[in-house]
Amino acid sequence: MSSVTTRTVRPAAPHGSGQEPGEGLRDIPLPPYVTGEDAQFAVRAVVVHAPRRWSGGTVCRNDASPHPCRLHRWGRRVLALRGLRAAEIDALIERGDPTAVVRPPDRPGA
Ligand SMILES: [Zn+2]
Repeated sequence: MSSVTTRTVRPAAPHGSGQEPGEGLRDIPLPPYVTGEDAQFAVRAVVVHAPRRWSGGTVCRNDASPHPCRLHRWGRRVLALRGLRAAEIDALIERGDPTAVVRPPDRPGA
């Protein structure tokens, strides 16, 4: 055994990288422009990743992480970008139809 253990102790994580403490995973980036396809993915995400009452709190119905999980948050933000109000998103989740079609944003002459 000739190894000398003089390891340099470094800080575990560099700070200033934009990650919030306690937030293990970063949010999924939003698309630069929300297309109809993105909106449908978002509907699916919020419906499939709906909240579920569990002992001790509310969890994701799909992956059991604390609600709202990353995909649920992503879906809500995409739908908000698409022009849906929070109440409309809540209504979609309540309907529980992952294939529900969201109306396109207001477009004159469409
Ligand atoms: Zn989830």
